[in-house]
Amino acid sequence: MKTRDIVVIPGDGIGPEVTQAVQRILEKAGASIEWIEHQAGLTALASGADVMPQETLDAIQHYGVALKGPCTTPVGKGFSSVNVQLRKKLNLYAAVRPVRSMPGVKTRFENVDLVIIRENTEGLYSGVENEVTPGVVMSMKVASEVACTRIARWAFRYATHRQRNKITVMHKANIMKLTDGLFIRCAQQIHKQEYPNIAYQETIIDAGCMRLVQDPSQFDMLLLENLYGDVVSDLCAGLIGGLGVVPGANIGDEHAVFEAVHGSAPDIAGKNVANPLALLMSAVMMLNYIADQHGDEGARAVATRIRTAYDQTLEDGCKTRDLGGELGTDAFADAVIDRLG
Ligand code: ATP
Repeated sequence: MKTRDIVVIPGDGIGPEVTQAVQRILEKAGASIEWIEHQAGLTALASGADVMPQETLDAIQHYGVALKGPCTTPVGKGFSSVNVQLRKKLNLYAAVRPVRSMPGVKTRFENVDLVIIRENTEGLYSGVENEVTPGVVMSMKVASEVACTRIARWAFRYATHRQRNKITVMHKANIMKLTDGLFIRCAQQIHKQEYPNIAYQETIIDAGCMRLVQDPSQFDMLLLENLYGDVVSDLCAGLIGGLGVVPGANIGDEHAVFEAVHGSAPDIAGKNVANPLALLMSAVMMLNYIADQHGDEGARAVATRIRTAYDQTLEDGCKTRDLGGELGTDAFADAVIDRLG
């Protein structure tokens, strides 16, 4: 693998412990990375900076790729969300969350294999909220043809490259006729005009969630607007063992930030019990992204090596507490390192 400068944001809560575990595994696996460390969230605030410091954004823009731990945004103190700012300011419009059954992790369903694509810049995350009159507040849901078409095209292109065969849009266009109506119209158009060979379906989101928990094998890729994507990601995490095993990528045309779906989990922070796997899997996605972007097959080989090692670790019954095991964060990382071929 060619040496790369990559920004790392350890984040808050369990962020620093899982990030450190992942960096250790990457190094032992032979990933040649110079980490450029920057802060965001509470850690940034504590050092006197903004929750989303401009220099962190500048660094990601400069280096192009970041690995990010979860960041906390203080609630109700006038701060806008770290994640929302990051995604909007860097135009990381596509969130990708692969959800697959993990070896050795017993859940209600076997062989779950879904990919969630979430629109990352609009919807109810517009941040436009008003008090219309005392006692009446409103939040604005925004949808633009440009963003709806862009995410639909991105999803179909991903489906083509990854040999996925069906995209299902989950929506509530029967109620939000304009916003969700636009979202499905743009998806229909991209399907019809550009990707007729990929199967396309729509489902009203409430019924879709019921079908998901009854039989996830009915679905392949899910395409959702921002808030639905957030909620359905956690629902799907529940199908395969929880938030400790769902990675994520936020991708734009020029930059990409890789982070687990889970938050900073303050309830277990600092106890060396958090599962580092979701961030490790996000790092594997990052290596594959680098391989695709730069034709660096060395990066892909490191990714495969790590993936084989963590699959083997789970198969051998070495698990953290959230998956029914007993290992702490560091011990799990050691177990993965022991299995690097
Ligand atoms: P956010 O609003 O950022 O999503 P949250 O508090 O709603 O944050 P998480 O921080 O993701 O959600 O935590 C939800 C639950 O899942 C918590 O009980 C937490 O302990 C658990 N959890 C999250 N991530 C992990 C992990 N990596 N390992 C073990 N447990 C986790």
